[in-house]
Amino acid sequence: MATIFSKIVAGEIPCYKVAETEHCFAFLDINPVVPGHVLCIPKKEVDYIFDLDDELFTELHLFAKRVAKGLKKVCPCIKIGEAVVGIDVPHVHIHLMPLNKPGDLNFAHHVEMTPDELSALAARIAAAIE
Ligand code: AMP
Repeated sequence: MATIFSKIVAGEIPCYKVAETEHCFAFLDINPVVPGHVLCIPKKEVDYIFDLDDELFTELHLFAKRVAKGLKKVCPCIKIGEAVVGIDVPHVHIHLMPLNKPGDLNFAHHVEMTPDELSALAARIAAAIE
């Protein structure tokens, strides 16, 4: 069965998209830990990041780097943090999060954002990605 992220890539369920290439896709996390919490995924459905072939592993990280640079322009922060968990959704994803203090990368915390806020933020991030 297709993962929820494959359904997002296929356009079968909505997302707040920020970037797309031939093999990769990025969108806002629906339950953000901090504002600007982005997920970067390969379109190919692979569960575990270290099972990606070298080419796609590299491509995904270069894609995440490009997204992070755009994200940092829009979300004021000290650094963009990166995390890979993958316990809930069995489809490789790199979490990108704007960080202003160490505790910002804490999956026990979440911020409330309305659909309008998420939509506006995604558009700004998308426009800032070169
Ligand atoms: P994990 O697999 O533990 O790295 O966590 C999966 C992440 O995917 C969580 O941060 C969820 O909030 C996020 N997530 C799950 N479903 C969606 C969705 N439909 N759109 C955006 N983010 C999602």
